[in-house]
Amino acid sequence: MASNIRVRFAPSPTGKLHIGGARTALFNWAYARRHGGAFLLRIEDTDPERSTKEYELAILDGLRWLGIHWDEGPDVGGPHAPYHQSQRIARHREMAARLLSEGRAYHCFCSRERLEELNKQQEARKEKSAYDGRCRPLAPAEAAARVEAGEPNTLRFAVPQGTTRFHDLIRGEMSFDNREVEDWVMVRSDGSPTYNFVVVCDDIDMRISHVFRGEEHLVNTPKQVLLYRSFSAPTPEFGHLPLMLGTDRKKLSKRTGDTALQDYREKGFPREAVVNFLCLQGWALNGTQEIFSVEELVAHFDIKDVTKGGAIFDMEKFLWMSGEYIRRDSVEHVAEMCAPFVEAAGLASESELQTRRAWYHALVAGSKERIRTYSELPGQIAYLFASDEKLVYEETAERNARKHAGRVETLRAFLEWLRPRIADGVDVAALREGVKLFQTERGLKTPELLQPLRCALSGMAGGPDTLEVLAWLGPQRSLRRLELALERLS
Ligand code: GLU
Repeated sequence: MASNIRVRFAPSPTGKLHIGGARTALFNWAYARRHGGAFLLRIEDTDPERSTKEYELAILDGLRWLGIHWDEGPDVGGPHAPYHQSQRIARHREMAARLLSEGRAYHCFCSRERLEELNKQQEARKEKSAYDGRCRPLAPAEAAARVEAGEPNTLRFAVPQGTTRFHDLIRGEMSFDNREVEDWVMVRSDGSPTYNFVVVCDDIDMRISHVFRGEEHLVNTPKQVLLYRSFSAPTPEFGHLPLMLGTDRKKLSKRTGDTALQDYREKGFPREAVVNFLCLQGWALNGTQEIFSVEELVAHFDIKDVTKGGAIFDMEKFLWMSGEYIRRDSVEHVAEMCAPFVEAAGLASESELQTRRAWYHALVAGSKERIRTYSELPGQIAYLFASDEKLVYEETAERNARKHAGRVETLRAFLEWLRPRIADGVDVAALREGVKLFQTERGLKTPELLQPLRCALSGMAGGPDTLEVLAWLGPQRSLRRLELALERLS
C-alpha cells in the first residue's frame, strides 16, 4: 500500500449488522480507499456466550452486499493474522503480563460483594461509581503469592495521575481528567481480557493508524489512549461518528424503523440507495447534491467533514431516495431485482417470468415510477396476475366507478366499440386517439369512462395508464374483465 493509513472495522458477531455499524464500516472503507490505505476487518468474538458463527457470516455478507471489500480479514488473511480476536488471546495475555511486570497494572482481590458495597456508598453520596484503588498499593510479591495460592482476582490498569488529551478528527481536542477514569479491569477473574484492553492490543499489533467508530465509544477512548502510552506505542488518530438518531431525536429503535441492515436488503432497498443514505448520516458530498455514487464518495470522503451531530435517520427520506434510485435505473435491472419479490408474492415463478420476459419488462416500465422499493412491485402488478373472475375491486376504485349513473351503459358501449379494434392486438397509441372520439361522440367526460374502465380492468383507483393496462392484459382478458364488470358494477 502506498500510504501508512490503516483502518479497521471491528464488529462483534453478537447480532445482525446494525445500520450504525454499516455506516462505520463504510466511512472506514471510504477513508482507506480515498487515501490509498488499507481497510481491515477484525471479528471481535471474545464473548463466547453471545458470539455466533451465523452472525459473523451474516455480517460479512452484509458488508459484501454494500460493496465493501477488505484488504485483510478473517477470510482473506493478511500479515497480521489471525483476524478473529478470540484467536489472539495468548498475545493479549502476554501484553497483560508485560504491563503487570512494569507496574502499570495490578492484581485486585476485592470481592464482588465489596465492589457492590462500594458502589452503593458512592451512589448514596451521589458520586460516580468507580473503583477506589484499594488493591493498588499491595506489594507485587504479596499479590503474586495470593494469586499463586489461588485467590480469585482481576487485573486492573493503574491509571496515572493527570489529564488525558487526544485529538479527535471530528470533535477536536478532547481532554479527560484521569480521576474520572477509574482503574478499570483489563482481565476478568476468569482470565478473559476485556474489550478496552484487547482492542488496543490488536490495534497496536495490526498497526492501525486511524480509529473511526461510533460516538458511544468516546467514554472508552481515554482508557485506551492511556494504554497506548503505557505500551509506548503510537496513539492512532480518532474520529467518533455521531449517533444516528430517529426523527424524534431519540436513539434509533424498531419504533422508528428497522435497525438491521439485512432488513432493508430484505425489503428491497437498492444497495446503492442504502450506501448513499447511510453516508448522509453525518456526512455530505456538498451542500446541494444528495444523490451520489460510491465513486463520488470515495473521491471526496474525508473524516474531517463528518459532523459532530445531526445524523437523523429519516425513514421517509430513505424511502424517497430508494424510489429515486429505482426511477433512475434501467428497466432490465429493476425487473431483475424485483423478480424475487414477485416470485415470493406467489404471482409468478422464475421460469414464467423468463418466458414472458418482454411482458414482465413492460409491467416494470409502467410501474417503476411508482415504487420506492423492489418489494413494492408485486402490490402494483398483482391485479394482472389475478384471475379475471376473482379480481378484487378496491373500495375507492369501486366507489369512483359507481359515482357515474351511466357506468354500465358506457362500459357496454365501450366494450362493443373496443371488440373489433383490438381483435388483432392492442395498439395503445391508436386506441388513445379512438377513445377521445368515443368520448366526444357520446358527450362523456373523461372520468365517466375512465373510472368504470379502470375499476373493471385493474380494480385499482390509481396506477398506470388504463390503456397500458389494457395492453398488458391483452385483448381476451380485457374483454373478459369488461364483461364481468357489466354485472359487477350494475
Ligand atoms: N467490537 C467493538 C464494537 O463492535 C469495536 C469498537 C471499536 O471500534 O473499537 O463496538
